[in-house]
Amino acid sequence: MTDFTDLNLAQPILRAVLAEGYTTPTPIQARAIPPLLEGRDLLGIAQTGTGKTAAFALPLLHRLAKKAGPAYRYKPQALILAPTRELAGQIGDSLRTYGRHTQLRTAVVFGGISSRPQIKALANGVHVLVATPGRLLDLMNRGHLRLSAVEVFILDEADRMLDMGFSRDVKKITAELPDQRQTVLFSATMPKSVQGLADGLLTRPARAEVNPSSTTVEKVEQRVLFVPKDKKRALITEMLGDRSYSRVLIFTRTKHGADRVAKFLAQSGIRSDAIHGNKAQNARQRALRSFRNGHIRALVATDIAARGIDVEGVTHVINFELPDDPESYVHRIGRTARAGAGGIAISFCDHGERGNLHDIERTIRQSVTVIEDHPYHSPEIANDPEIARRGPQRRPQGQRHGRGHGQRAGQGRRRNNPRWHGRGGPRRAA
Ligand code: AMP
Repeated sequence: MTDFTDLNLAQPILRAVLAEGYTTPTPIQARAIPPLLEGRDLLGIAQTGTGKTAAFALPLLHRLAKKAGPAYRYKPQALILAPTRELAGQIGDSLRTYGRHTQLRTAVVFGGISSRPQIKALANGVHVLVATPGRLLDLMNRGHLRLSAVEVFILDEADRMLDMGFSRDVKKITAELPDQRQTVLFSATMPKSVQGLADGLLTRPARAEVNPSSTTVEKVEQRVLFVPKDKKRALITEMLGDRSYSRVLIFTRTKHGADRVAKFLAQSGIRSDAIHGNKAQNARQRALRSFRNGHIRALVATDIAARGIDVEGVTHVINFELPDDPESYVHRIGRTARAGAGGIAISFCDHGERGNLHDIERTIRQSVTVIEDHPYHSPEIANDPEIARRGPQRRPQGQRHGRGHGQRAGQGRRRNNPRWHGRGGPRRAA
């Protein structure tokens, strides 16, 4: 197996990587870094949690560090476009970490905060600019930024970028880039729209792909509880009564839902906060910081707000509500299996969400283990005749402990796995 020292990264970058404690490149890094170091375009298919940031950041820093040129005023030499502020911020942090022994300067620009410090940074000159599309265009239109010196263009989370309606902005931005450049596109999924974008932007790209089902999904212990809607609050309060739930990310479908959950958790004495698109940027960042440093145990988030959030040591992901889109489920549960670690994801599925679960199981090609030995378990929801009519799920490839027809998920050997219940064994409502 390759290790980082075999990749021929410039010494200052290698030193920073080793200081982070990384020894072996993750699969996406092993596949993406060599072609990127050769200067090739790349199509990377990988989701957050696979180490994709370093996969594009290290070759970029290597290239610019080798060149050892000055930063130009208003004209970055590399542009990284990300769909959300949180993701942009995290990419900026990674670049600073990996580039700390170089002279390279990075700036991050996104909306929702004053543009003044951002303009100042551009005026002082930066090598690498990380940006969300709206603020980038705004700064360009106001004459604070030109893309004519960009040698490397990286588009991260392209699928989410298009989902969030940034297609036109991306077109406007790429139209300003020099033709002669290295282009990298990363996406967790490859719907036709992203393929179209990739075809237009990339020239004879190398392809680096890691299959999410073998990286994230399989490392996460997934559980579902069939529970009536009106029992969900009691259930989550009970779960969080267990101290082994020490860093819990809770997902809701809506912003109001996120606020409501955070509020009643707080009323139950559980320190928590919510992040979603209606919150001011500094409130979001404060919530994230509190979650990272353990000041709060539970963070309630909507899918878009949680996109790209990189918090280490998330012990549990709880889907208070199931997402309509199965891909979001994969992203959500991936938050608890960062960089090779395992994790636990528990979904609350009420009657109206039974179809969502069915779609999710079809996408991940496995059945989610049902927790039946809980007082709130509802056999009516579990045995929904409509779902039964749709037929059984396909078993994931290579699964050795298959179930026979008619045997429900969760009847296998893992049903009473103590990891779900915490150290004290199964918990019961009082
Ligand atoms: P990403 O998919 O880029 O969000 O990265 C997920 C997490 O993996 C981050 O916390 C990184 O610090 C960490 N990471 C990235 N590459 C490696 C590596 N080769 N070894 C160990 N951890 C890594």
